[in-house]
Amino acid sequence: MTDTNVRPVTLDASVCTDCRRCLDACPTGVFQPDPESGRVRVVYPDDCHVCFLCVPDCPAGAIAVSWDAPNPRLRSIYDTLDIVLAEPARHERRLADDEN
Ligand code: SF4
Ligand code: SF4
Repeated sequence: MTDTNVRPVTLDASVCTDCRRCLDACPTGVFQPDPESGRVRVVYPDDCHVCFLCVPDCPAGAIAVSWDAPNPRLRSIYDTLDIVLAEPARHERRLADDEN
C-alpha cells in the first residue's frame, strides 16, 4: 500500500549546498532552481521515476528517494510489468482488445 503523504523525492534544504549537480543527474528534470530564491528545489516530483541516480550524485546527502510514494508514472509502468510478467495471457488479451 502506498502512503499518500510520502513524496517520491525530497530535498533537505537545510543541508543542500546548492551545488546544482542534481540538475544534471536527474534525467527527467525533477530539480529546478526556484524562480524566487534561485536555489535548487524539487519542482516536478511527479516526474520522478525512482531511478535513484540523483542520490549518490548529491555530495551533501540532501536527497531522499522513496519507493512508497504515489507516483502515477511509476505505477503505470509497474502495473504493466506485473501484468506482462505474472499474467502474460491477460496482457495478450489486453493488446488484442486495444487492436480491435
Ligand atoms: S530518482 Fe531519478 S527521476 Fe527521481 S529525482 Fe532522482 S534522478 Fe530524478
Ligand atoms: S546535488 Fe544535493 S547539494 Fe547539490 S544542489 Fe542538488 S540537492 Fe543540493
